[in-house]
Amino acid sequence: MTGEVRRWHAELAWLGAGDVQAGVLIEAAGPVLRTVTPGVAASGLPAGTERLAGLTLPGLANAHSHAFHRALRGVTEQGQGTFWTWRERMYQVAGRLTPDSYLALARAVYAEMALAGVTCVGEFHYLHHGPDGVPYADPNEMGRALLLAAEQAGLRITLLDTCYLSGGLALSGRAEPLAPVQRRFSDGTAERWAERVAGLGCDKHGVLAPHARAGAAIHSVRAVPPDQMHPVVAWTHGFGAPLHAHLSEQPAENEASVAAYGLTPAQVLDGAGALGPRSTLVHATHLTRQDIALLGGSRSCACFCPSTEAFLADGIGPAAALAAAGCPLSLGSDSHAVVDLLQEARLVELGERLLTGERGHFGAAALAAAACGAGHACLGWPEAGEIVPGAVADLVTIRLDTPRLAGTAAPSALAPVIFAGTAADVSQVVISGRDVVRDGQHLLVPDVPAALTAAIRPLLS
Ligand SMILES: [Zn+2]
Repeated sequence: MTGEVRRWHAELAWLGAGDVQAGVLIEAAGPVLRTVTPGVAASGLPAGTERLAGLTLPGLANAHSHAFHRALRGVTEQGQGTFWTWRERMYQVAGRLTPDSYLALARAVYAEMALAGVTCVGEFHYLHHGPDGVPYADPNEMGRALLLAAEQAGLRITLLDTCYLSGGLALSGRAEPLAPVQRRFSDGTAERWAERVAGLGCDKHGVLAPHARAGAAIHSVRAVPPDQMHPVVAWTHGFGAPLHAHLSEQPAENEASVAAYGLTPAQVLDGAGALGPRSTLVHATHLTRQDIALLGGSRSCACFCPSTEAFLADGIGPAAALAAAGCPLSLGSDSHAVVDLLQEARLVELGERLLTGERGHFGAAALAAAACGAGHACLGWPEAGEIVPGAVADLVTIRLDTPRLAGTAAPSALAPVIFAGTAADVSQVVISGRDVVRDGQHLLVPDVPAALTAAIRPLLS
């Protein structure tokens, strides 16, 4: 591997498994880690070695994002409502976005993610067409805006291009027509979805650019009839690409699915061949025991978004049961009510505690692994998420001298970081060997709050 050789000396580092190590000398050549050596004294380091004060983690993967939902932060938190009333407000923003305004918004949102230590985002993208449902001159113009936004914010991205065909599934089991705002989401049929995605121009491994890979998503059993799922599944097999789907976020989805098909949503996806080690089911909140066995037996990943699931009053999913059944867990900030993967990680354990009245279901290392290695793997970046030779050179350093983390004892630093740390404690972020955040400042998007404000205000006025 060629590229500029860089060296860092991490005061403490968690390498992706095991215990926290002290004095870790890390060497990279370009975007790839070359050597990782714990127990190196701070004296006598090679010239040019950069010191990383605090605890350094592998890159965090935000495995489930809808970038445009960030515009609704704070707007829908007052008063009463449900997932379904929130969705109406979300659709108002969806109706206003253009490729230019989406580029500006997504760049600012991804910059906020980088400040929080996110090195790779999985963008579950269904805002494909113009407001009237007519494709842009380049029918992938919105997707390309997201790819460019990630590049400009310094992140890697997996564009999970989403098939979305129906307006919903009524409790009667009837497929509902698309509402006017939903016309932007639909390609009409799964075959036409596949034709459009072919225009993205990925190589035979699904690679779009050095920072970008392609994946696919079935929006949900609400939005894709079972007979339309196969072309999406087949496309992922052709590229070895990840396949994501929203699953059982709300009880109403299960009721409608059973009414329509006599099957739970997990059973519908299984029947369509949509479960397996390259598949990720997002939320997986309201599952039967058989659903959990089905997901675990298929080694599908379950992506939990606990902040969003709480903000939308979805419920608490069976994380421990899914993990015990064989599902890797990953994490997403989804609606971006909060962008903080450390918070998402601890809420998985705290949800289990609230459900069971007992502590100790997921330790700090298991939660960090969900945020790092499992998150990257479910986005089709299995070589990222650990600090080991040959891995992608991502380093996320968290200060331990902040008000939240001061007093942390060195060998056990991972537990306080996972259970008390926040995005505000992230000081340095290296993504694919390149500095993106230094001393808490984004180096590519100099004023992230101003960029967010400028992008969001016009969408809400
Ligand atoms: Zn989602």
